Amino acid sequence: MNKQQTAAPRVAVIGAGMAGVICAERLQAAGWSVTLMDKARGTGGRLSSRRLEGVPFDLGAQVIQAQHADFVAQLAEWEDKGWVLPWPEEQGWCAVPRMSGLTRQISAGVPFEPSCRIVRIERVEQTWRLEDDQQRLWSDFDHLVLALPAPQAAVLLEKVAPAWAAQAASIALQPCWTAYFRLDPSAALPAVSSLPRATPLAQTTPSPDAGELGLRRWTCQTAKPSWRESTDAALWVVEANAAWSAAHLETPPAQVAEALFDLWKQVVGQPQLTRPVHLAAHRWLYALTASVCASPYWSSSVHEVEVAAGLHLCGDYFQRTGVEGAYLSGRALAEALIDAQQG
Ligand SMILES: Cc1cc2nc3c(=O)[nH]c(=O)nc-3n(C[C@H](O)[C@H](O)[C@H](O)COP(=O)(O)OP(=O)(O)OC[C@H]3O[C@@H](n4cnc5c(N)ncnc54)[C@H](O)[C@@H]3O)c2cc1C
Repeated sequence: MNKQQTAAPRVAVIGAGMAGVICAERLQAAGWSVTLMDKARGTGGRLSSRRLEGVPFDLGAQVIQAQHADFVAQLAEWEDKGWVLPWPEEQGWCAVPRMSGLTRQISAGVPFEPSCRIVRIERVEQTWRLEDDQQRLWSDFDHLVLALPAPQAAVLLEKVAPAWAAQAASIALQPCWTAYFRLDPSAALPAVSSLPRATPLAQTTPSPDAGELGLRRWTCQTAKPSWRESTDAALWVVEANAAWSAAHLETPPAQVAEALFDLWKQVVGQPQLTRPVHLAAHRWLYALTASVCASPYWSSSVHEVEVAAGLHLCGDYFQRTGVEGAYLSGRALAEALIDAQQG
């Protein structure tokens, strides 16, 4: 009798963004023995949030939008649990209290290894062995799920699945610089109420001027329905577009923050705004997936491919992009693995 018939399958899920946490949670609920790992200190990935001088900002996804009926139903369930709130102005939802809270809630019962950057994966005696950047070995997994941005998955796949590595490397991802700041209340408050709250996700360039200047979108954090903290000033996140971000990839963050604030003042017609009390920038090297694969995930257990058994990929580059794409891919992979195990 082999190991898979006698014990719960052991699976490592690398990447605790939306795709990884939903996949991990579903497998764990089906009785699998799951270890979720991420190089960051917490879950969230591109749904992450950060504090600047004590106040929180969503630095990645700002709004969750749903088209697929399954994701619409899932959001309704999360809303009942109080994990998300509808955001009618943006035709979507936002997580409570911040975006990263959603992945924390979903993965609450799943064993999680933070600060664990996997640098090597290998097949050893019909199991998967991983090595992290502190030379720790993680062994004996029957299954390995890579829930990473495509270029980061490609690097890990090079030795064990070169064909998949090449395919993953061909997926285009755009960078995105984001500036986040807290406006000086005395200088800015009268003007803020007349500024746009957030531009819809679908409209990647808010206006011709903004696009030409290099901005993609800006979102007032304190105007989100999930905003609960008290603050006397408005908090904003301004995203540069792909062209501006690519042209400034190596510019120091402090310089980028100043530049994006200046562009934003121009675009919103508020040149008198004084420099924000707190101003910072974050670079997303792999931000927005620009092309997708035809299948909902890749799996050597489900697809007939010449790849070692038990290797699987999911994320926001399978069929759909964004948070919705990541959710649908991670969930579809988990369901297929559970079916294959039971069948
Ligand atoms: C600035 C910005 C704005 C966005 N706005 C929106 C929006 O408004 N709406 C929307 O739907 N989508 C938006 N997106 C896209 C959305 O955030 C992503 O599509 C989605 O969150 C991707 O989820 P994922 O699980 O596929 O990947 P990720 O969230 O990227 O998760 C991958 C995880 O893998 C980890 N990781 C990577 N390499 C390793 C390694 N070697 N070892 C261990 N861990 C590793 C990372 O730390 C990360 O946590 C935005 C993205 C950005 C960056």
